[in-house]
Amino acid sequence: SLLVYDDSDWSIPKSMATPTIISNELGFARWRALYESRQDCQEDNCFTVNLEAVRPGLPGSSDENVRWNMRTLHLMSRAGFLILELEPSIQRDTSEDTEASSTSIHATLATVRVRLLREDHLLPDAWEEAISNSRERTLESGRRNLQLMQQMLVHHREVSETLAELYRSRSPQWPVEVTRVCGGCPVDRSAEFRDNYYHVPAASPIHRITMVEVDNWMVRFPHLDPRYVPVFYAPQEQKAELLRLLSWLVAECNVQEICTARDSWIANTPEGRHLYKRAPSGVVIHRSHHELENEPYTPLARVTIFESQVTDTQIELARLVHRPMHIVLYPLQTHDPNHPSRCLIDTATNSARLEQLHAVIHQ
Ligand SMILES: [Zn+2]
Repeated sequence: SLLVYDDSDWSIPKSMATPTIISNELGFARWRALYESRQDCQEDNCFTVNLEAVRPGLPGSSDENVRWNMRTLHLMSRAGFLILELEPSIQRDTSEDTEASSTSIHATLATVRVRLLREDHLLPDAWEEAISNSRERTLESGRRNLQLMQQMLVHHREVSETLAELYRSRSPQWPVEVTRVCGGCPVDRSAEFRDNYYHVPAASPIHRITMVEVDNWMVRFPHLDPRYVPVFYAPQEQKAELLRLLSWLVAECNVQEICTARDSWIANTPEGRHLYKRAPSGVVIHRSHHELENEPYTPLARVTIFESQVTDTQIELARLVHRPMHIVLYPLQTHDPNHPSRCLIDTATNSARLEQLHAVIHQ
């Protein structure tokens, strides 16, 4: 990275280090509105809130309102009043209507579940005291970050040492140990020997991954192993059928990853972009063919769609992608990279034609 600055630029990091935090009075009013909107869950002290709740004095909800509500909840979570749990929105939109009904993407995507930790959250004095302390801690860490930047730029502190201090986290739940590595910052460049501190960081395991259910696929297609299924279709004529298959896979087979060419209609038109509305999780990730080599394994069910020219390399990469379910759509005339004179459709195993899938799905 190259950092070019002069003294007048310091106003930018200074303002970033002193974020605007909601005042006690407005924050408390927002919390009351959120609390009023609650819907109880099964467990004690646990409820969902409506992120579009409007505090007295505002005309209605907006994107900005949702953001301030979210900030208020974060502030309260940091102050120890509550724990926030996000869950995918349960309102599934199965209509053809592409207009989002919520004012904000946050509100569309997720329901916020609140687990209360304190009983005194509706007492203004208790609220004010806890929130003020938390706000002070936030501002304090802002000041510390600015100080680190000044040490690095003005007092020439070693860069990797500064970064390691900045990003280290001593949280008991998710400790992050940052290892130092420097490719030659101004401090080291003039030094005769460069200290090398690098050691491979220990990865903390990720818990609580739910495995993808492929039952709905297996019921319809017991003879097709879902881990790599080449499906052949005519891209020019079968656009509607393709969309129908995608909708079914997203709605019924938990497909959450769709990989297409960057300029594909699936990535660029509302029909394709709004597929997430059919997903039980409310989330569909769009990827491009340029990312075929990224994330060789994630536990997401996936569809890859080739619409025109497919290169041999792309076919190889698509085969290597490791997913619990991976449906790959190829144009009918795609050649087999291993037998240039033959078509993939004649040599592929565990494969099907698009119309065959539809015949089974919609029988
Ligand atoms: Zn260095």
